[in-house]
Amino acid sequence: LREITGHTKVYGILADPIHHVKTPQMLNALMTREGRDGVMVPFHVSPEELPALVKGLKAVKSLGGFVVTVPHKTAIVDLLDEVSDSARRIGASNVVRREADGRLVGDMLDGKGFVGGLIAAGIAPQGKSVYLAGAGGAANAIAFAFVEAGVSRLTIANRTRAKAEDLAARLADAFPDAPVEIGTSDPSGHDIVVNGTSLGLKDGDPLPLDATRLSPEQVVAEVIMQPEETAILAAAKAKGCRTHPGKPMLACQLELMADFLGMRALPGAAR
Ligand code: NDP
Repeated sequence: LREITGHTKVYGILADPIHHVKTPQMLNALMTREGRDGVMVPFHVSPEELPALVKGLKAVKSLGGFVVTVPHKTAIVDLLDEVSDSARRIGASNVVRREADGRLVGDMLDGKGFVGGLIAAGIAPQGKSVYLAGAGGAANAIAFAFVEAGVSRLTIANRTRAKAEDLAARLADAFPDAPVEIGTSDPSGHDIVVNGTSLGLKDGDPLPLDATRLSPEQVVAEVIMQPEETAILAAAKAKGCRTHPGKPMLACQLELMADFLGMRALPGAAR
């Protein structure tokens, strides 16, 4: 860790529980690489105490911003002074910057990180048809990012159909021409198939979609990072599909967070 002085910018991550978070290690390493005088520390805060903490953080002049994770991503939105269009549409924010005047400005990078990770792997979603399993927090953000990226069709399938319908309605509200439909467990006929559910985290979970309907020309992508090869990715591989794991979503998000929070080296600055 770099030496902390009175000049050091402080960043936080807000979560409950917090013991598992790895973002501070990764963003601290990035700031060290970039030669920035900053440090990210964990802020363990319960949902009841979130409003008081956020109000207090506005007063901390040395605060650069903070990352927001489970269970605070939705509740934080109403506590901020400003949020990006996509954070407002999704109704969640996972990164907040403190401006010099104390205003807290939020953005939502889950979906942008997912789509950015696909693009970095050479899988451009623009003009492609996408099947998305899930309608929870991650799937919501990913659905908006796919529509913003210009997919030709987005089919959403979720165990609780009403949640898929609600997501489709909010997408149609924000983007009246959004090519969105509700699907079944059958992902056939789509270029890109995404597991946006939490199915696959645990051994013995059922598959999030009907893998017998996959075909070799499809790309099958995952949000789950651990295990690296979930059961649906293994089934997709066996069907001859190209697979895309969950890790690039996080890697891309960390880069986007670093940009949003001003953690990069200043142009021309000596390291
Ligand atoms: P949520 O709890 O908000 O949503 C869970 C989703 O999974 C819902 O669509 C839910 O369906 C579905 N689901 C859960 N259990 C079942 C089941 N038994 N059968 C069918 N469907 C089920 O979780 P999140 O969206 O926040 O997270 C989902 C995953 O995304 C997690 O595994 C998380 O680790 C991962 N993630 C990865 C990130 C990365 O950077 N790679 C970033 C953020 C999240 P229903 O609506 O019917 O309950």
